Amino acid sequence: MEECPSCALEVDRKLEVCPYCAYEFPRQTRSRITMAWVMALLLIWPLFELIKLIF
Ligand SMILES: [Zn+2]
Repeated sequence: MEECPSCALEVDRKLEVCPYCAYEFPRQTRSRITMAWVMALLLIWPLFELIKLIF
C-alpha cells in the first residue's frame, strides 16, 4: 500500500490512478509515454509500407 499524494489515503501500489480522487501516479507516466510511442509506430509503420508499394 502507498499513500496518495493528492488525498493522503492508502492506495494499492499496482493501481495507476487513485480510486478515491482519480489522481494519476507519476511513476506510470514514462511507461505510458512508451506505450503511446509504440502505438504511434504501429500506426505509422503500415503507412510507410504503403508508400513504398505506391512509389
Ligand atoms: Zn487519492
